Amino acid sequence: MPVQLYDTLSRSIKPLAPASSQPLRFYCCGPTVYGPAHIGNFRTFLIQDVLRRVVEADGTEVKHVRNITDVDDKTIRRSIEEGLSLGEFTAKWTDKFHVDCDALNMRPPSVEPSAVAHIPDQIALVETLIKKGHAYATDDGSVYFRVNSFEDYGRLSRLKQRELKTQSENSAGELNDADEYDRESVTDFALWKGRKPEDKANYWTSPWGEGRPGWHLECSAMVDSAFDGETIDLHGGGIDLCFPHHENEIAQSECAHGHAFCNHWFHSAHLMVEGAKMSKSLGNLYTLDDLREKGFSPMVVRYTLIAGSYRQQLNFTFDGLHASQSGLTRIERFAESLLAITSEDKTEMHGYISAEAPDDFGRLSKAWDALRNNLNTAACLGAIFGVIGSNPAASLDADGARAMLKALGTLLYALGLELFTVEEATVDAPAAVRAIAQARWEAKQAKDWTKADELRDELLALGWVVKDNKDGFAVEPA
Ligand code: AMP
Ligand code: ZN
Repeated sequence: MPVQLYDTLSRSIKPLAPASSQPLRFYCCGPTVYGPAHIGNFRTFLIQDVLRRVVEADGTEVKHVRNITDVDDKTIRRSIEEGLSLGEFTAKWTDKFHVDCDALNMRPPSVEPSAVAHIPDQIALVETLIKKGHAYATDDGSVYFRVNSFEDYGRLSRLKQRELKTQSENSAGELNDADEYDRESVTDFALWKGRKPEDKANYWTSPWGEGRPGWHLECSAMVDSAFDGETIDLHGGGIDLCFPHHENEIAQSECAHGHAFCNHWFHSAHLMVEGAKMSKSLGNLYTLDDLREKGFSPMVVRYTLIAGSYRQQLNFTFDGLHASQSGLTRIERFAESLLAITSEDKTEMHGYISAEAPDDFGRLSKAWDALRNNLNTAACLGAIFGVIGSNPAASLDADGARAMLKALGTLLYALGLELFTVEEATVDAPAAVRAIAQARWEAKQAKDWTKADELRDELLALGWVVKDNKDGFAVEPA
């Protein structure tokens, strides 16, 4: 039986299978790069990463496409404020996003297209929509999608036409300029935005004059470019993207191509802080660096963000982070007890963490079934702890322990959890030493090599050496 996943469009759990042949065509709306992504954004990206890993470990190849939104009101405004070109500014935050993704052990997407690199595709899509009567230009050089021309509009979010509010603000908080432009209907949304003085040098020429693409258009164009204009198997994003963003993507793509845009919709619920969605606009956010500074490793953050059911909101708390730390340590102790039976060192655990699933997960079958059944990460972890609690190491021989390590390794691969990433020596180092090591790490991230070297020497003078690894750094007595 294929992996099962809830589909927002049909409101049911459906098998997740590529429509024709492999690979599974999976598109995710990516980050808007105008600052560091917060851990709410990462909840969504991590859940997508876990799904991809589960499908791969289940034997289906995945073509995972996640875009970079590198032109919108915020990227333009902030780049101007910082005196950088839009390209320099967004490259800086795209790099930071990649550094955080790596630290969180996220697999890089198969393709990561950028909106700016696809402007000609977006213009071509608008031309098609105008030609087919689904879009119209206005006097200020903008182009709008004619929502009334698409009968199925609102199908995904089940909005009736009469319930449509003005699309004056999208879920990214970007204004659609409802009052300034000459739209036929308040429900119509911008495909192309005529140039405004505050855009400064950030505009492209088009058949309708100078301007820039609207936010919704980029995803339709990048899906076409990555998947040759074919129907995709799966589309993901946070639940806030369901309306209007995904509704608008469907309208643009189906009106342009005349066939289904996407077969399966995958939305994840929000990370919350005290009852409100974690968001840049509310200022209630934490970044990965904020949590690292407080001593939580990226693996603990990853564990926290994926441990709850993806369809339920997750409330962010520091108690939750501490609980994840204990959970991860329990799994590490369990792996160590199995490795002791096979006479292996804990460094050899890495070799077991693999997408090659065993034919039989043995006592860990329930954990694997939970992942395959609507990505139930909470039940998966519960089942792993159930097995740990029964103390299987007491009765296993080397072959039995190896088989269990292999099953555990595939589950850890699917969850994207690496074990033993935090060196124990680091935990034991005095707080002052850890603080200097952290400052050196941050200097390194900021590419301030002189400061990083100075701090390394400072540590050495105190009798500690610092070693960098995939997830950060470790300090050890010199
Ligand atoms: P953005 O960078 O704002 O375009 O958002 C990138 C992704 O993060 C989108 O899929 C959003 O739906 C998602 N997202 C934003 N805030 C949260 C949150 N608090 N919890 C979970 N996902 C979020
Ligand atoms: Zn999108």
